[in-house]
Amino acid sequence: MNKRNLLASLFFGQHGLLPKTFFLNHSRGDRLIVLAYHRVFDLPDQGYPFDEETVSACAEGFEEQITWVSRHFNVMNFHDVETYLKRDGRLPKRALIITFDDGYHDNYEVAFPILKKIGVTAVVFLTTSNVETGQPFWFEKAVYQLKKMEPRRLVLLSGRLPVEVGEKNRAASIRTVLSIFKSIPDEERRRALEELDRQTEIDVPCEEGKLARPLTWEEVYNLSREGIEIGSHTVSHPVLSRLSAARIHQELFESKRSIEERIGKRVISVSYPVGESDCYDESVIRAARACGYMFGISYSQGIAEYSERSRYDLPRVRVERDIGLPLFQANILLPALFLTRKGGSLRETPSTG
Ligand SMILES: [Zn+2]
Repeated sequence: MNKRNLLASLFFGQHGLLPKTFFLNHSRGDRLIVLAYHRVFDLPDQGYPFDEETVSACAEGFEEQITWVSRHFNVMNFHDVETYLKRDGRLPKRALIITFDDGYHDNYEVAFPILKKIGVTAVVFLTTSNVETGQPFWFEKAVYQLKKMEPRRLVLLSGRLPVEVGEKNRAASIRTVLSIFKSIPDEERRRALEELDRQTEIDVPCEEGKLARPLTWEEVYNLSREGIEIGSHTVSHPVLSRLSAARIHQELFESKRSIEERIGKRVISVSYPVGESDCYDESVIRAARACGYMFGISYSQGIAEYSERSRYDLPRVRVERDIGLPLFQANILLPALFLTRKGGSLRETPSTG
């Protein structure tokens, strides 16, 4: 058990030193807690060919977390927030939103039945080009290729990024490549992914691709019909701050338009891909407003005081694999202690926003 889990157990475990009710009763009314999940999925014991880091919880862990949340918080979505604010200008106490980034099939197959059983809503942010094509997300495909390739040296970014992929350092090489691919301009990333295709000569076979497939439009429609809010996570999952103004607008506008066409409802929320503080800026926020979004959500760790200013810059509480229930609770109840910039996450580099 790592230090954070241990400390959280000491505070909030079965015989914990701190009463959770005290923190619940003293939680501030002006806060909006937004939980960030990606996938809810039971990983196979071995041989999983995609990125384990995108799995936020197993089915059992997720059910335990949502059961606790549903007992102590006002679980809502961004449409509800809009209604509350229009009605009396403020949120109810302990307002909490459950969100999922990217739009993986397990949001429908695993998470949704649990949400429905417990009776709470959530928000799913879609990367629409993947829903359209059914192809795996670019980062999942890259991980697949790096896991499956024979040990060898890759030369990416036109020679500027040599990567030695061996049996021993494979996991570290994968993290390095992903973090560099997320930090470079969009065009360069596209070219680098083509280089990876050419040098590995590996494609994702249909059958294995199902393990990490995106949602289908039919599943998206069903989720929406059942009261799950559908938001945008752009068309192609680029880092928005590295795009031209025209491309930012296109990514935000086209994803919103295609979701609205499919579900017949307004799309009012967008989660910025990757979502670290350098992945969106004033020009991204301006474009989001201009496209008609009411809320912009980042992947920065934290719990925001809800305000007009924070509406397009809402941080989240990241939920990551292997956190026990006490740490999940501590992240929400004691954010000042547990949600340091990188800390609430158990890993140094966050998986993907
Ligand atoms: Zn994402």
